[in-house]
Amino acid sequence: GMPATPAPTFAARRKTRQLQVGPVGVGSDHPISIQSMTTTLTADVNATLQQIAELTATGCDIVRVACPSQDDADALPAIAAKSKIPVIADIHFQPKYVFAAIEAGCAAVRVNPGNIKKFDDKVAEIARAARDRGTPIRIGVNAGSLDPRLLAKHGKATPEALVESALWEASLFAEHDFHDIKISVKHHDPVVMVRAYELLAETCDYPLHLGVTEAGPAFQGTIKSAVAFGALLSKGIGDTIRVSLSAPPIEEVKVGTQILQSLNLRPRKLEIVSCPSCGRAQVDVYKLADEVTAGLTGMEVPLRVAVMGCVVNGPGEAREADLGVASGNGKGQIFVKGKVIKTVPEHAIVETLIEEALKIAETMDAE
Ligand code: SF4
Repeated sequence: GMPATPAPTFAARRKTRQLQVGPVGVGSDHPISIQSMTTTLTADVNATLQQIAELTATGCDIVRVACPSQDDADALPAIAAKSKIPVIADIHFQPKYVFAAIEAGCAAVRVNPGNIKKFDDKVAEIARAARDRGTPIRIGVNAGSLDPRLLAKHGKATPEALVESALWEASLFAEHDFHDIKISVKHHDPVVMVRAYELLAETCDYPLHLGVTEAGPAFQGTIKSAVAFGALLSKGIGDTIRVSLSAPPIEEVKVGTQILQSLNLRPRKLEIVSCPSCGRAQVDVYKLADEVTAGLTGMEVPLRVAVMGCVVNGPGEAREADLGVASGNGKGQIFVKGKVIKTVPEHAIVETLIEEALKIAETMDAE
């Protein structure tokens, strides 16, 4: 077929060091990866692996598991061995679990320098263990658990305080010649978060893991994350992302995927171009758009499908899409690659679109 025109994008990626989280490369030479975190008890190996399998099927690239107890630490070798995607152990408070996670073969370890006691004294030992196993470390600073020294100095979790905490810990690792580090500086306020990552991007070349922490329930969290990630990714800042939602983790992966696709940082797959409807609509656009989305979900080929309520913008958008419908007078004009191929009664619009989408998908697969 014709060579595809590259999709328009914003700024080039900020140049970073590269590291490997298992088979997934992280840094400016690699695509931006999507992370999520399991909500099962890590010690329940089967339940955790089951959730990891769901996340993997949804497109998650890297998964994080909490490790708050010895039972959880004991489960890490089995989880790390059986997961199809790299597993990062998330460690708070107890440095002994950092060593356990490295020993267990986890692809990386996340440490929170704000709440691991005497973290500074442990860095040499952690750096040695991590280097021996080739395990990268994420320094995960979080506004809610900022190092008390910096909280005292800055008064609250300002962008400067978050960045100072991260860079201080990174400098301790650097003193031990350990640079296999990525950094996050999460805050629940997207504006503070964006500023913190901008500062960090200016002052270091470590890969950055983006996250708005405690972003809230799905609706609010999706918007906070999309706005913050959009602001940063549009400037080339960010190498891996996690959308935090008070919702099942597969929802986080879906939102993350949609954010990257919206920014053309991942190829778009199914894209529904549907109108908001208005007083001119001659069909129930919401219902039609939902039914078409449901009917085509899971298609692995890039397909832009226009669902338009009337003939004002209808034919124009439908012509621009791979496939489309412009409704009017109880009928739908079905467009394929810009040509009206048939006109069907309203009740047959959805099935006709699905039929035509499958035909187009077949020709794309064949190319
Ligand atoms: Fe209104 Fe028609 Fe535009 Fe839909 S396509 S928003 S119905 S004018």
